[in-house]
Amino acid sequence: MKNLSRREFLKSAALWTAGGIALPGLAACSKDNLLFADKEYNGRVVIVGAGVAGLYAALLLQRHGAQVTILEASPVYGGRIRKLDGFADRTIDLGADLVQGRQSILFDLLRSRGDEASLVADAGIGRYLHGDSLLTEEDFSALPGAQPVLDILLGSLGSYRGLDITLTDYAERIGVSAEFLNIVDYFAGTQGTSPERLGVRSYAQDIRSRTQGSGAWRLQGSLYDVIDDAIVAPLRERIMLNRQVTRIDYSGDTIVVSDAEGDEHSADQVIVAVPLTILQRGDIEFVPGFSSLKQWGIDHIGMDAGIQIVMRFSDRFWPRGKIIGGERCPEYLDPLQDRESNDAVLMGKAAGLKAEFLSTQGAAAVDILLEELDRMFGGNSASSTLVDSFIMDWSKEQFIGGSVSYAPLGMLSARVNLATPIPGRIFFAGEASNFNGHHGTVHGAMETGYRAAIEVISMA
Ligand SMILES: Cc1cc2nc3c(=O)[nH]c(=O)nc-3n(C[C@H](O)[C@H](O)[C@H](O)COP(=O)(O)OP(=O)(O)OC[C@H]3O[C@@H](n4cnc5c(N)ncnc54)[C@H](O)[C@@H]3O)c2cc1C
Repeated sequence: MKNLSRREFLKSAALWTAGGIALPGLAACSKDNLLFADKEYNGRVVIVGAGVAGLYAALLLQRHGAQVTILEASPVYGGRIRKLDGFADRTIDLGADLVQGRQSILFDLLRSRGDEASLVADAGIGRYLHGDSLLTEEDFSALPGAQPVLDILLGSLGSYRGLDITLTDYAERIGVSAEFLNIVDYFAGTQGTSPERLGVRSYAQDIRSRTQGSGAWRLQGSLYDVIDDAIVAPLRERIMLNRQVTRIDYSGDTIVVSDAEGDEHSADQVIVAVPLTILQRGDIEFVPGFSSLKQWGIDHIGMDAGIQIVMRFSDRFWPRGKIIGGERCPEYLDPLQDRESNDAVLMGKAAGLKAEFLSTQGAAAVDILLEELDRMFGGNSASSTLVDSFIMDWSKEQFIGGSVSYAPLGMLSARVNLATPIPGRIFFAGEASNFNGHHGTVHGAMETGYRAAIEVISMA
């Protein structure tokens, strides 16, 4: 067995971040594109968490001969990809639904399956709320003082190299006036948080290392179904549901993973692919405990509340594209727009402080959004046409506990610290451990699964 030091780890990690190796697209189902393609590995690997990261690591390891067991705490696999069937005439993806960028492991997977043809481009922003008016992009851009906030939307933060400050302070510094702060709120929400919590310097560093490319698409079908078919199907028998891992003891030669059912699972290596919040809360006891560097990393990445409120109406009363800038809910999008559907569905999406508020409201959150939509569109266009609603409150999911990781003030190298393995024994995957700017995405989570699989195989 070979133990990777922190320096060796960073070196090997640089291989996949800098594109030194081709990240697998077709390799989703073939071992030939893995860095250690010729290596067989027949060790026992326990993977904790059946989200995309853990599942993808398991698939790659299984192809290389490993005996994989995936322990999932909840009654379902998929984690932050989930689907809502029967609510409308098409499946609605909850959690991730957009495929972001063409240069990604996920896009390659879709291409290899022939799914590229069924991608529908995201309509982008359709209306900006300004005061009580919903403006088109053209009208919004023409407003005096709109440019600084448009710059933020267009990615100006990516070039920020100053001291770490919050997005709130940054917005003030570049002259965003109070009337446009609702749009800043929307932007922070797309990063999983609120402007007063997002650290601009760390965010900018993340963005600069991003290689996924531009553009975003939804599938005519469901992203969940693609992952189910391409990644889960070959592994299904290896997944154990309702198995909350509570303890990982790696003090002896064999690693002992204990679950809440009282069962113990022996392993040569373990991949921990749970959401950041689970590690922050200390839900899993590690024996021995983490180094201070690792613990610092876990504590210095952010993960806030996230909520999706899906509403079906008898009529589509909104125009094409997202409606952004709501005071209660900063983003409304139509998940079925441009897809083959006859149903009128609008999804309110919030993260950070706004999601925390909506989460405390329970079912009344729907009424709050209806009231906001009525104000935007006049009369009772929303409240009188609602047919059905569904709330997906990610912070209330016991084994998820929030939306996606984000960069708080002073995050520095925290993602690297989280990603660094405990030499030879415990490996870390999951979107929060992605330090090439693809955190908070499906392809970013897959990349971490790929990285963990390489690390395990390199032990052989
Ligand atoms: C509202 C929302 C919208 C999003 N939109 C997009 C998008 O459009 N495009 C995109 O690319 N990405 C999007 N994302 C991000 C994407 O969904 C995630 O980055 C990705 O799915 C995370 O995968 P993961 O494997 O890292 O974690 P998860 O999917 O969270 O998987 C972790 C798993 O670990 C399990 N677990 C937790 N504790 C334990 C334990 N003790 N023992 C065993 N198992 C445990 C959990 O139940 C879970 O199944 C979105 C996310 C959210 C929340």
